[in-house]
Amino acid sequence: MSVVTRFAPSPTGYLHVGGARTALYSWLYAKSQGGEFVLRIEDTDIERSTEQAKQAILDGMQWLGLNWDKGPYLQTERFDRYKELIQQLLNEGKAYKCFMSAEELDKIREEQKLRGEKPRYPGTWRDRTDHPEGESFAVRFKNPLDGKVIINDHIRGKIEISNTELDDLIIQRSDGTPTYNFCVVVDDWDMGITHVVRGEDHINNTPRQINILEALGAPIPHYAHVSMILGDDGKKLSKRHGAVSVMQYRDDGFLPHAVLNYLVRLGWAHGDQEIFTLDEMIEHFSLDAIGQSASAFNTEKLIWLNQHYMKSLPVDEVSAHARWHFEEQNINLTDGPALEDVIAIQADRVKTLKEMAQISGYFYEDFANFEEKAAKKHLRPVARIPLETVNDKLQAIVDWNPENIQRAINQTADELDIGMGKVGMPLRVAVTGGGNSPSLDLTLNLIEKEKVAQRIAKALTFIANRENS
Ligand code: GLU
Repeated sequence: MSVVTRFAPSPTGYLHVGGARTALYSWLYAKSQGGEFVLRIEDTDIERSTEQAKQAILDGMQWLGLNWDKGPYLQTERFDRYKELIQQLLNEGKAYKCFMSAEELDKIREEQKLRGEKPRYPGTWRDRTDHPEGESFAVRFKNPLDGKVIINDHIRGKIEISNTELDDLIIQRSDGTPTYNFCVVVDDWDMGITHVVRGEDHINNTPRQINILEALGAPIPHYAHVSMILGDDGKKLSKRHGAVSVMQYRDDGFLPHAVLNYLVRLGWAHGDQEIFTLDEMIEHFSLDAIGQSASAFNTEKLIWLNQHYMKSLPVDEVSAHARWHFEEQNINLTDGPALEDVIAIQADRVKTLKEMAQISGYFYEDFANFEEKAAKKHLRPVARIPLETVNDKLQAIVDWNPENIQRAINQTADELDIGMGKVGMPLRVAVTGGGNSPSLDLTLNLIEKEKVAQRIAKALTFIANRENS
């Protein structure tokens, strides 16, 4: 049997990291088995579902590279199918019309609570045939009255639920719309889902869904209920902990591969390996190796992975993502060095691509002002002669390369008999605007010789103005 998994988010917000991890596990399992991965948008809650949220999910999945083989299916486009099967269950006596009003049901529930019982529908209309003419009704599923449902969960092991715990679930509301649990069941069946990987918050739905699947004569898929993600403080991960939306991680400058590697390890392990290529994830992944306990989110580790991948992924892959951040900072990349060359010398200096874009503007455009502190410290009258000297030597270079640039700097220090820093720091502030940059030979090499001259001239003017004031 070929494996088919699915990710079935409800489009009520963004794609959050918990959902993304579930999606990743489903995707990995399908890939590891040579199976298919289905994307299904569970938009039956019309009040809470939005087009924007649907798009946010698609964007998040695409950004992560979790491509789907089938879908995205929309539940709202499948209402006819749900209705057809509800009618079938009615015809077969496996479901029934319930005419109980909401008020009546509330009253019963209150009484049950007062008696210390669990509120449940008492099966009032299960066997009645005296249906009132023209009244609206809900359709309830006839849950088996005895026996038990057994789930052999891939993560949580064997779970048994007695049918006496379950009441007759509404599968069609009185307004005619099908309910959530019913749609999930029909979809899982129609889409040939063999393995349902989802959050543990759905574990209570599973026995009901299994009973409905059985009533329909559908095969029962395997289940794997993934535990929650907690924040670093041990509480359920929420906005309080910072970013929880996958796209926020993009905006903050993380590489999708770093996020995927981070998420896969959040609850799953393969020995003590921390770094995984996608192929390695696919090769080693198994549902049975997912841990049962909740996992705590650790931003430091995500940053560590991001730094690792900025340095180690093929530079064109990094640059594709970095480009977006430079554009976000309104940096025009057409006039300046190849972005790949900037990445090569900046990657180990930053935590994120956003930070990289923020500190790399000087490669592409002239800056308006020198950083105040750096200028105060390094663009002083004493720097004038070193700057003039190094500029002459730099401008005399025929072949603009790191070696020749370095030689010009060294010779300046030698000739003037001053330390390297007395040449290097003013030069760095002059050319980059601040006191932080990769080594000068590599930095200047990526900036045109003429631009270097212009910026040094500007620094000399700055020093002159300072002398005169
Ligand atoms: N739509 C559900 C959710 O977003 C998932 C349902 C399922 O995976 O069965 O939580």
